[in-house]
Amino acid sequence: MQLDSLYQEVILDHYKNPMNKKLSPTYSKEVHHVNPSCGDEITLNVTVEGDLITNISWDGVGCSISQASTSIMSDLLIGKKIDEDFAILENFTELMQSKGTKSGDEEILEDAVALAGVSQFPARIKCALLGWMAFKDATSQALSETEAKG
Ligand code: ZN
Repeated sequence: MQLDSLYQEVILDHYKNPMNKKLSPTYSKEVHHVNPSCGDEITLNVTVEGDLITNISWDGVGCSISQASTSIMSDLLIGKKIDEDFAILENFTELMQSKGTKSGDEEILEDAVALAGVSQFPARIKCALLGWMAFKDATSQALSETEAKG
């Protein structure tokens, strides 16, 4: 797998020095997601306050793409409104499904554009999306529980 060397560096940096990789003892919802095709595993929790994501913390094992992508995602999505985070998530998902035709909008995705090259490697897309899907799942569950409580 060949990625642009600058991008390679961003990914390796997040892999070696992951952001928010220490599970918070308090959270709104925690989920565990696995990507059996590669052996990646992520436990992730979110804290939702009103319409804001105030914290995302996680722990996991797996390939550099899965771990770096989760680190990048957590750094990017903490402190923003849920609607905004879901829009960013949608944007990143589209990038991953672009089969190498898109380079990603750095204004929206920041460091996550470093993963653009992954979209050319179908087997690795699930690695890159693992943490993002875990975030979507945990947040959706947290929201539906809040609604259920009224
Ligand atoms: Zn992987």
